[in-house]
Amino acid sequence: MQLSETVKLYPTEYQIELTRNTMSEYISTVNNIVSDYTNKDNGNIESVKEIKNIKSISKLTTADVKAKLPSALCNQCIRDAKSIVKKYDKACKEVEKAKKNKKNQKSKKNKNSKNVKEVEEIKEVKKLKEIKVPVLKKLCCYINNQNFKIQDNYISFPVMIDGKSKRISVKTKMTDKQKLILSSHRLGTMRIVIKNINTLVAQFVYEINEIEKVNESNNVMGVDLGIKCPAVSYCTDGSVKFYGNGRKNKYMRRHYANLRKWFQKAKKPTVVKRIKNKEQRIMKDIDHKISREIVNTAKKHKAKVIKLERLENIRSTTRTSRKNNPSLHTWSFYRLAQYIEYKAKLAGIEVEYVYPAYTSQKCPQCGNIHHAKDRKYICKCGYHTHRDLLGAINICNSTEYIGNRCIA
Ligand SMILES: [Zn+2]
Repeated sequence: MQLSETVKLYPTEYQIELTRNTMSEYISTVNNIVSDYTNKDNGNIESVKEIKNIKSISKLTTADVKAKLPSALCNQCIRDAKSIVKKYDKACKEVEKAKKNKKNQKSKKNKNSKNVKEVEEIKEVKKLKEIKVPVLKKLCCYINNQNFKIQDNYISFPVMIDGKSKRISVKTKMTDKQKLILSSHRLGTMRIVIKNINTLVAQFVYEINEIEKVNESNNVMGVDLGIKCPAVSYCTDGSVKFYGNGRKNKYMRRHYANLRKWFQKAKKPTVVKRIKNKEQRIMKDIDHKISREIVNTAKKHKAKVIKLERLENIRSTTRTSRKNNPSLHTWSFYRLAQYIEYKAKLAGIEVEYVYPAYTSQKCPQCGNIHHAKDRKYICKCGYHTHRDLLGAINICNSTEYIGNRCIA
């Protein structure tokens, strides 16, 4: 299955100019080649023959194409033009074939036996007659995976500067999910296009293996994300699992916060930055590990769906549950949720988000709402469970499905 990912670019004025020039040269080069090899129906047959005698399109190289483009892009132009011409030729052949069929049928059959099928075929011929030589109009360019590079928050690719091929490095902003996708797949070509009048975006195509969906059970797994306990899962088959080590994470955060404070006082901002980056890397690793474990557990218990609590919008946090101080933690929950979503998708498991109200207070048996005391949640009706598990059970049971978006 092919998927694509779009990333917004933040070029400088000069880079915009260079990229626009490249795109415009790119499409006109493709259009020129295409028109050279497709205008056999539009009169000037001799000139086409001349070109074709010199070279068939399959043997065309960058040396034959006059374009002010880096050779990598020029090659891509030829490839694009070839596939356009091929499609066009195929369509033309179909028209010819349909025309022949029509003639044969006419000579064979009487005039009064104009059946439905025949009418359909005539329509088909008319449709095919309208085939025009395709012309690229929107500014764009394609760059193959050998010639662009993604590094941190920059994408570099070649353009022409004063008649010479030079690479430019354009700033971009990628989500963690995008970084994960783009770094863990073999990418195809990169397409640069303009969206919304003047926004440059880069689009990447990548291939993922489709997982056979042999999963016939209707098991659902609820996952509750928290601070004390980074994640708890409860599956409809009754299985429970705890993930990560909240106390260790808390210790680590405090350790790095102290380090940062110390170096801040010592006026060493670069060291502070480095510590911050290191902490981020460690947190990301932890989230990758937890999300992997969660999805593996879901696979093991044949869960079809993983349910998560939808995160409240950072601006409208009014929660007063045990997940206190949400503004500080929403971001890290968000990242973990994204990782789970992504890994689940690859495993053919769906992720759904449910409404987060009372998941840590509601009794799964009688629906009563009250707070847990200490480590145990005990209800009047006799129901009792581990308090950290309650959220996962309620999320698993929740029917308040509110879509597949992570944040409100
Ligand atoms: Zn109860």
